[in-house]
Amino acid sequence: MNKIQMTTPLVEMDGDEMTRILWQMIKDKLILPYVDLKTEYYDLGLLHRNDTDDQVTVDAANAAVKYGVAVKCATITPNRQRMIEYPQLKQQWKSPNGTIRSIMDGTVFRTPIVIDSVKPVVKTWKKPITVARHAYGDVYKAVDMKTEEPGECTMTFKGVSGKETTVVVQKVDGPAVFQGQHNKSASIRSFARACFQFAIDQKQDLWFSTKDTIAKIYDSEFRAIFEEEFENYKARFEELGITYFYTLIDDAVARVIRSEGGFIWACKNYDGDVMSDMISTAFGSLAMMTSVLVTPDGKYEYEAAHGTVTKHYYKYLKGESTSTNPMATIFAWSGALRKRGELDSLNDLIKFADNLEKACFDTLNAGIMTGDLANLAESGACQKRATSEEFLDAVAMQLQQLMS
Ligand code: NAP
Ligand code: MG
Repeated sequence: MNKIQMTTPLVEMDGDEMTRILWQMIKDKLILPYVDLKTEYYDLGLLHRNDTDDQVTVDAANAAVKYGVAVKCATITPNRQRMIEYPQLKQQWKSPNGTIRSIMDGTVFRTPIVIDSVKPVVKTWKKPITVARHAYGDVYKAVDMKTEEPGECTMTFKGVSGKETTVVVQKVDGPAVFQGQHNKSASIRSFARACFQFAIDQKQDLWFSTKDTIAKIYDSEFRAIFEEEFENYKARFEELGITYFYTLIDDAVARVIRSEGGFIWACKNYDGDVMSDMISTAFGSLAMMTSVLVTPDGKYEYEAAHGTVTKHYYKYLKGESTSTNPMATIFAWSGALRKRGELDSLNDLIKFADNLEKACFDTLNAGIMTGDLANLAESGACQKRATSEEFLDAVAMQLQQLMS
């Protein structure tokens, strides 16, 4: 059989622990037999990041900007405990995802993979809901202060022109806590553009929610920038028959729960952090959540939403069998290959990505599942509780049928 040819390399970012093991198996069993895979490979495994003083992460992000499509394996973000586990670490390296996000300046879209045998907790949900989380500023870049005596807190902005503006935050009669947060109009604008672009890509409605009735200046700025930017996308939305809809966050929560799903919900940083966990848990499992970073000028980095599944990796190292779910990592690959196919007009590659996803669904629908799904599935739906490798072999068999 002739392998499917690619014209532009995919930026491949390898990672750590159990997901690194799955990564290689996915390539060997599912992709390399059919695709003459062209990648520019970056090893983002912790020790290689350490060896290169984290330069490899920066290089990988720059390559993603250059080529436009990347696929990333989950990686360890070292904490204190990891510094003990890996004594050779020169420092507590920053989160690779944080580094990549700041270089690519993108928005993260998280979408659950939905199957019939795992019913969402919310009975009305028929289609996946994608949460688009603004990944800059607000409480994540805030400063805090605790005070002990009565007094007054003010906030001052000093412009480069020399002009100063001061507001009173609060006069207090005893101990208190204060917080100062910000966002940048340019970042909000990038967020808005990425959301409108993604909605067009997915041909789905876009919802956006803030609390502009309370945060009259702060959140109103978000709302106004979205409305302004929407003017540039309106015609395309009309052509596709999709809509942009703004509402208050509390109204949005109520509507989301009553909805059928099938739309994109854009959230400010904190709302997106909280709501994406709510949505993924209510749909089933973190192992079934895909994640893609999209820049306003249409560059894509695909990954799974979960981490490196450390507990399973320790079992694997002891030679015990593991039942880690590779779905989200496979869908990171299929998403990236499909996007590469679309950008380079390679119909065979697009078809392959579709088949790969179909093979996964066929396997799950045949009742072959990893442990996490077996525990969640409707009774009788799981015929075989598979190890990671058995699951991948079953997908490979389905894929072979689809490709022949
Ligand atoms: P995790 O790797 O997502 O795993 C947490 C737990 O969720 C697992 O122990 C497992 O539960 C379940 N789980 C997650 N993915 C699964 C899968 N594919 N199949 C089956 N079960 C799955 O989170 P963590 O243990 O908090 O973090 C581990 C490492 O990942 C950390 O070093 C962290 O820095 C890193 N991390 C990386 C990323 C990223 O690169 N995007 C994101 C998050 C975390 P059971 O043990 O109950 O089976
Ligand atoms: Mg969170």
